[in-house]
Amino acid sequence: MTPHTSWCAGGHRCSLGEHRADPIVITAPNIGAVTLTRVRAANGREHAEVRLTVALAPTELAARRQLLELADNLSRVLHHATRPEGSIHHGTVAA
Ligand SMILES: [Zn+2]
Repeated sequence: MTPHTSWCAGGHRCSLGEHRADPIVITAPNIGAVTLTRVRAANGREHAEVRLTVALAPTELAARRQLLELADNLSRVLHHATRPEGSIHHGTVAA
């Protein structure tokens, strides 16, 4: 196993060559929660691990609409989060 990083939480979180930070948890009561964790994999690459829990509407049609909208929004988040450094300025995206 490689040495712990400066942000690694250590203990049981490190296993199988991974190093993991303490997760950041954002909760919105009755709506959902996000858990964000920085991870360095055994191959040295780092990634953000995101776990999202979203309350769904009680009716099937509304829940399906929510899921479609969620998939669309998550796709945008993924593309936005992986843009090259320097292409984002003050909350807007440079052309
Ligand atoms: Zn570690």
